[in-house]
Amino acid sequence: MTTATPPQLIDPFRRAITYLRVSVTDRCDFRCLYCMAEEMTFLPKRDLLSLEELDQLCTTFIDLGVRKLRITGGEPLVRKNILWFFDRIGRHLGSGALDELTLTTNGSQLSRFARQLADAGVRRVNVSLDTLDEAKFKRITRWGRLAQVLDGIDSAQQAGLRVKINTVALKGANDDEIHTLLEWCDQRGMDLTFIEVMPMGEMGEENRLDQYYSLEDLRADLATRWSLTETDYRTGGPARYFRVGETGQRIGFITPLTHNFCESCNRVRLTCTGQLYMCLGQDDDADLRKVMRGGLDSIAAEAALREAIHEAISRKPKGHDFDYSRQRVEGQVGRHMSVTGG
Ligand code: SAM
Ligand code: SF4
Repeated sequence: MTTATPPQLIDPFRRAITYLRVSVTDRCDFRCLYCMAEEMTFLPKRDLLSLEELDQLCTTFIDLGVRKLRITGGEPLVRKNILWFFDRIGRHLGSGALDELTLTTNGSQLSRFARQLADAGVRRVNVSLDTLDEAKFKRITRWGRLAQVLDGIDSAQQAGLRVKINTVALKGANDDEIHTLLEWCDQRGMDLTFIEVMPMGEMGEENRLDQYYSLEDLRADLATRWSLTETDYRTGGPARYFRVGETGQRIGFITPLTHNFCESCNRVRLTCTGQLYMCLGQDDDADLRKVMRGGLDSIAAEAALREAIHEAISRKPKGHDFDYSRQRVEGQVGRHMSVTGG
């Protein structure tokens, strides 16, 4: 039986890196307005890490003290054979080396996969859902069908998965629905987290400032109907949580732009091509695929990989520089959220 590994990845600001988010694909069956342009050029398949390589990389991170893995994308559940990968990683839950295996999904494939995800050891899923209105859903996701996502959420709950809804706050799109979303989540026993739009990647016609709805304003609007009390609940992530007096449910707010959440950052992000990003909002990365495919024998490759990871963590920056304050999008990073994973 493997015993828990003490964190070995400590960054220059003394933050222990215990959380890895892994994007397993840049592809998606939706084209959300704030995330992708309608015409996207995706990576050639040969550039992607194979699922075996992803398993090897995640296993190395777990050996180095990572306790939580979140699988994301693009849409993680559209990657071929992804259930194989979940099963493989599930062995680390069984051994006690990993505390949690979870995913962020748009929900479109959950009807098919919820049961098998639960069997692999997944206990919680984050489902991204910005509206409960069919026509609006179509407009925001461009290619999605609301009914399919709602079926997926049903299947996840039936399979015993805890569902948290993530909603991106969008001015003029879903700002009139926040009370309805809160009530709907309460009726279904689901937590809800609101997210501010972040300046990531080219959007085609869409304009960030047009989409941006401050969560300060959103919370003030919620407070006109609900009593919100801030809690000290933390998941090690960027969200701040409030308790709704009337329903008892927990509402999260992820506010990268109005509050900086970097001091307690415990995470790094791996792209589907094996680039390790030490910060969501900075461009510096480490090419782990190059190390893995460098032609070394397996023992030397593993040693080189560990060294590369340590070196990358020693470069983790203090924080991001996103800033909308002067009515311009400052600190923008060039890659889409679907590259680094949300
Ligand atoms: N396809 C999956 C999904 O939608 O949940 C996983 C990947 S998606 C990139 C992860 C999260 O990032 C979603 O909750 C999505 O709403 C959010 N997201 C995408 N682009 C964003 C942006 N520019 N600003 C803020 N959140 C964004
Ligand atoms: Fe796809 Fe998720 Fe991006 Fe929407 S937010 S386009 S579902 S990756």
